[in-house]
Amino acid sequence: MSDPLEVLKELAEVDEALHKTAGRLADISAEEERLRARILEVDADFARRKEEHRKLRLAAQERTAEVDATDAKIREYQRRLEHDIVPYKEMEFLREQVQILRAKLDQLSEEALKLMEAVEEDARKLSQDEVSYRERRALLEHELQGLERRRADLKRDQEAQVSQRMEVLARLPAQLRQHYDKLRARFPNPVVYVNGQSCGGCHLRLSETTFLKLQEGREVVTCEHCSRFLVLRWD
Ligand SMILES: [Zn+2]
Repeated sequence: MSDPLEVLKELAEVDEALHKTAGRLADISAEEERLRARILEVDADFARRKEEHRKLRLAAQERTAEVDATDAKIREYQRRLEHDIVPYKEMEFLREQVQILRAKLDQLSEEALKLMEAVEEDARKLSQDEVSYRERRALLEHELQGLERRRADLKRDQEAQVSQRMEVLARLPAQLRQHYDKLRARFPNPVVYVNGQSCGGCHLRLSETTFLKLQEGREVVTCEHCSRFLVLRWD
């Protein structure tokens, strides 16, 4: 193996490592996006849950207000019956109304009581729900922080790989560096194995001459079809 080919292999390995690091960083971004969406969902669920409780409480308050209003009306009618001088017909009407309103008051009071009980029970459930909501959210936040640390590690790896790449590149003859850069602009894999007698990049069969040159290992050989650098074995 000629020395430049070793350097090319090193370069290709660094680039492969860089490619993997970039892929892992992209995975982290996707996972982060998924977690952030999950947090929004969890927040929205709990907001809905709170709204549900608020509506129940409102219904109970409305029913209680109805009880109070009905009660006030009964008192008002009774006061008129007891203290005002009212014509007989109106008196009959008021007495009838008091009867009706009392029956209604009983029903409303029962409903208001049931609703208040339901509110209290739901308030207990709501505080349990809030606890599990906070736990779930904290867990997701924790996962996000884990990803953040993982990203910082990968960024450090990436920096090391970039400086390693520069160091390897400096050892490569200018002509090969130019060819490598040109290949890299076109292909993700500028240095490829030979499979059987075919180029591992474009998969076309190599000529006998190219294959022989490769086996001799005295010079850097490129594919006559795609001009990728060829390596017999990736040791
Ligand atoms: Zn090729």
